Amino acid sequence: MTGIPTRRIAVYPGSFDPFHNGHLDIVQRCLPIFDEVVVAVLFNEEKRPLFSVDERVAMVRHLLAESFPGAPCRVESFSGLLVDFMARLGARTVVRGLRAVSDFEFEFQMALMNRRLNPNVETVFMMPKEDFSYLSSRLVKEVYGLGGDLTGLVPPSVLALLAERLHPEGHPENRPGHNA
Ligand code: ADP
Repeated sequence: MTGIPTRRIAVYPGSFDPFHNGHLDIVQRCLPIFDEVVVAVLFNEEKRPLFSVDERVAMVRHLLAESFPGAPCRVESFSGLLVDFMARLGARTVVRGLRAVSDFEFEFQMALMNRRLNPNVETVFMMPKEDFSYLSSRLVKEVYGLGGDLTGLVPPSVLALLAERLHPEGHPENRPGHNA
């Protein structure tokens, strides 16, 4: 059939500031379904991210290589319209994670706007494992900043980066005198 690309490329866009196990879970679910998964890190310096776009790209590259060695997935950054970035890649499918009903309204608007901007683009929603359904990058930063334990929710390499950035003097849990 004409106009249907032979390779099914999924683009999973987001801020990923930082990447956590909910994000990793979605990539894992995409791998058996698509020929290639492109994690697309949004260049959004005006949102004052904790990690620069280059740091986030390096963080996700390292994680994907470690978690899915040899798998057809890669990491790119993009700015501007998602549909333009997808056209450059020859991709037609956007993947987004849906955690709860509260995500739905915004995601529904985005999906329909993207379809309006390019009718060939379809958005697919994926539900993460229940254990990650309450997890967000915002909460990760907030909880870790206050000294909470995020083991099992955030990959160890990301925890190390968070420690460097948020607790250069050492995580509160490991400081002498911490009794929580
Ligand atoms: P954005 O700024 O685009 O929302 P995020 O990095 O917060 O970027 O999220 C990127 C994508 O990952 C979105 O589709 C979001 O719904 C999804 N996502 C975020 N947290 C989770 C999670 N805990 N489990 C599964 N998907 C998630």
